[in-house]
Amino acid sequence: MTHNLVTNYGLYKKLEICRPTPATIREMTKFHTDEYIDFLYRISPENTEEIQKYQQKFNVGDDCPVFDGLFEFCALSAGGSLSAANKLNKGDSDIAINWGGGLHHAKKSEASGFCYVNDIVLGILELLKIHHRVLYIDIDIHHGDGVEEAFFTTDRVMTVSFHKYGEFFPGTGDLSDIGHGKGKNYAVNVPLKEGINDESYKNVFRPVMQHVMEFFRPGAVVLQMGADSLSGDRLGCFNLSMKGHAQALEYMKTFNVPLMVLGGGGYTIRNVARAWTYETAMAVGEELPELLPYNDYFQYYGPDFRLDVPSNNMENMNTREYLEKLKSKVIENLRHTTFAPSVQMQEVPKYNYSSDEDDDDLNDKDIKITQKASDKHRVPETELSDSEDEVGDNRKNKRSYRINPSSKEKNNVTDSSSLGNDNNKKEISTTKDVIQENNFSPTKSYISKTNGDEEKVGTIESVELTGENSEKLGNLNKEEVEKVEKLVSEDSMVIDSVENIEKMDET
Ligand SMILES: [Zn+2]
Repeated sequence: MTHNLVTNYGLYKKLEICRPTPATIREMTKFHTDEYIDFLYRISPENTEEIQKYQQKFNVGDDCPVFDGLFEFCALSAGGSLSAANKLNKGDSDIAINWGGGLHHAKKSEASGFCYVNDIVLGILELLKIHHRVLYIDIDIHHGDGVEEAFFTTDRVMTVSFHKYGEFFPGTGDLSDIGHGKGKNYAVNVPLKEGINDESYKNVFRPVMQHVMEFFRPGAVVLQMGADSLSGDRLGCFNLSMKGHAQALEYMKTFNVPLMVLGGGGYTIRNVARAWTYETAMAVGEELPELLPYNDYFQYYGPDFRLDVPSNNMENMNTREYLEKLKSKVIENLRHTTFAPSVQMQEVPKYNYSSDEDDDDLNDKDIKITQKASDKHRVPETELSDSEDEVGDNRKNKRSYRINPSSKEKNNVTDSSSLGNDNNKKEISTTKDVIQENNFSPTKSYISKTNGDEEKVGTIESVELTGENSEKLGNLNKEEVEKVEKLVSEDSMVIDSVENIEKMDET
């Protein structure tokens, strides 16, 4: 529904739309156990005996039913987030969207809350190949427990979850859950009560995220935008309007850090499609007419047929006092973290993305992506041809569906990024998960950056480290910034903190 609405609004003209390669078993087991993934691969609804046998072990059955095409669904959802990570890692996109992802409850060896394979964890692991620190933010009404658990003991991933807490699934996410061991203080939980409205939410979200960005200084951000935090959700009990929900994206966009945007929960589906369409437009910096264009699901949007999810008059159980206390406690915890924790200095390998069974091959040789392989990741032109908005489109460039924007559109795009750095033109890619019968076969394909070299890493890091942005650098003074820039441009090593620069000076 979301994709249909996005397309009929004509937003595809501003996006590169990709069809991701389904994630392979090998890729899924970078996080999940072999046994669990093997079970998901083999199981079908007809196999009642086996479902019963493993019901407890893998938590399938009630909340997480076995359905036809389950494995294909998981592979596409996870493949979307892996492709999104790949787009960001290669520097092809500033924002990559996978509305088919965001399945934050899935555990290493267990399904949970409609989630089977944790595409988020897999996507973050991919981002960690080139980013020292990745930030995960979760605005689904439910606690992002699966992602938090996966990274609970590391300081390389900070997880921040805003959720309803207290007699609510999954029951975790207390303020005092802050991570463990090296990961202590790198899990942040913001437990909220029912009825939270736009203003209260924004007043907590912005200061918390501002501090997180200052202290943690991530190389990439993953934003799970579960839409069950919207007002009127069938399962949720928050009171966010569409715009109140979208402010999370609006705010995170201003930091100009590579951003992966994912879906998640959402059970009043017409509103989910509305919110995610609005947020897709926000990602590209477009304003959409409020009256919905005709689309395949038009009758779902009655009686108003408008792009809006209003809040209602439900009581906000989050008092100003409660929120203020919550905010200061969270920020106080953040002060205990090491400023921009570094990882041991290491040579950064050329970035290889492999969606293949045997990525060891890639250690020895670079495999050039062929035009054909590249096209496999893209939606065939015909799939978008039902739109009325195509007339006059320039689609001569077969390699990409990015449309040459008119000068007006160009301005809009630049305007959007001018919230932060004018030099960062926004290019957005959205991964479309298309489940088609009989077309699922994990295939071998490689994407490898062969022309880019280590400099790529420097380029990405330099988003934060250019002189123009130096006011954002907090504790770094001008001299240190220059030092970092020099080292990043001259050296294939990644410089991650002032301490490391000092260490380099000593040696
Ligand atoms: Zn949820």
